[in-house]
Amino acid sequence: MTDTLSPVKPGKLIINGEAVDAASGRTYSTWNPATESPICEVAEAGAEDVDRAVRAARAAFESGPWPKMKPAERQRILFRLGDLILAHAEELGRLETLDNGKPIFESKMIDAPMVANCFHYFAGWATKLAGDTLPVNPAFFTYTLREPIGVVGAIIPWNFPMIMVGWKAAPALAAGNTVVLKPAELTPLTALRIAELALEAGLPPGVFNVVSGKGSVAGEAMVKHPGVDKISFTGSTEVGRHIMKTAADTMKRLTLELGGKSPNIVFADADLDAALKGATAGIFYGKGEVCAAGSRLLVESSIYDDFVARLSERSAKMAPSDPLDPKSRLGALVSEGQMQKVLGWVETGVKEGARVAAGGKRQPVNGKGWFVQATVLDGVDNQMRVAQEEIFGPVLAVIRFDGVDDAIAKANDVPYGLASGVWTRDVKKALNVSRRLQAGTVWVNAYNFYDAGMPFGGVKQSGFGKDLGPDSLNEYTHTKSVWMNLE
Ligand code: NDP
Repeated sequence: MTDTLSPVKPGKLIINGEAVDAASGRTYSTWNPATESPICEVAEAGAEDVDRAVRAARAAFESGPWPKMKPAERQRILFRLGDLILAHAEELGRLETLDNGKPIFESKMIDAPMVANCFHYFAGWATKLAGDTLPVNPAFFTYTLREPIGVVGAIIPWNFPMIMVGWKAAPALAAGNTVVLKPAELTPLTALRIAELALEAGLPPGVFNVVSGKGSVAGEAMVKHPGVDKISFTGSTEVGRHIMKTAADTMKRLTLELGGKSPNIVFADADLDAALKGATAGIFYGKGEVCAAGSRLLVESSIYDDFVARLSERSAKMAPSDPLDPKSRLGALVSEGQMQKVLGWVETGVKEGARVAAGGKRQPVNGKGWFVQATVLDGVDNQMRVAQEEIFGPVLAVIRFDGVDDAIAKANDVPYGLASGVWTRDVKKALNVSRRLQAGTVWVNAYNFYDAGMPFGGVKQSGFGKDLGPDSLNEYTHTKSVWMNLE
């Protein structure tokens, strides 16, 4: 395994424009999932550090230059940050792969450009956030202002540690807010590095702070802190629910992007070669540790047996490999615990009556690592737990259906509603099915496409509020109505 290229420097908290230790002096090791070895020590923020970061962000919002700056200047700084991220794609990609275990192809070629794309795109919005003049009464001049909310607390997961920085911080900052971000304990390195690049780009001190640490300590402190006006969270439904309850005490606004069990529906009239690629990429990209993963593959009865045979053959060829190898397409799961959990789900599936048609086992690379084979569970019934609950690993549940109504009934019969895929050559069918799916995103003859300009977020237990696109700016602004008496 090639993870000894150069040592990774210890991670420090970024508070008020400085790299600092935790007040307690505590640190923890972050691990390389592919080699099962520690990468470096990282400062572990406690409630006191979160308080320091929130105070810095508060001061930067209330008396610092950021919210009052000419929007064009904010735009320039955020655009510069996008450029810096692109210029550091190699370094950020490597850090992400070491910390998370995902293939360098994904972290360097897809994730880093996506984060840059977020800062470039939302930089453009800084100059375009306008209110309205609303002629409701001739006796008044009536207009609205679109104002930043204040201090945004961003809590992000370990599956897309750097992309989530872009999704949360870019729109919040473009709108003039200040941010305190807590990366997942398991994957803090890229968020800390992007915070350094943000300072280099010219973000004033206190505008973007990063506090690495435990969710139950630093995350909890952020959600309870009266100085935080809004929490933008991506992670599990369970923690999202807990955050919602906790945030009620201080009446914080929330954006919650939570779990998923997204259906990827293959109709018999589809381009089956394309659907096959879409089905495998839909689940195995990101090792299946993807909230929007197409983790339930619904296949029409008349093509079921043949399609599953081809799918199993293709999946069996996707062997896990060294994530630092540019050819790798299946990396290591983020932690030993996650690997055990995923293997446990395969056992659950078998006990429920599913058949392992491909994979199903741990497969170390060079004798090490938390790698799991690309796994296909065949003959799954939509009521089984492996069809209803988020597995968050490279495990695909394949379910049979008969016709459009059955496909829709099965697709929607889960607690989640994050994303979905439809494969058909029939345009009317594609449009009708897209309308009837309960999901925040529908991909037709495609899967897993994202852009900073396209809103993303779920319905049902997948949460509410949008990341990305123009809609996400509503999450980070409020509308002030001004009535000016003209008489
Ligand atoms: P969590 O929901 O626990 O983690 C997401 C973020 O929330 C992390 O930064 C975490 O910190 C933080 N957090 C945890 N507890 C609290 C709290 N009480 N208050 C505030 N913040 C908190 O996901 P896990 O990492 O535990 O993963 C568990 C499962 O959740 C996965 O197996 C998967 O099924 C699902 N998941 C779904 C994701 C999605 O995008 N839909 C993303 C990640 C996980 P810390 O990491 O330090 O605990």
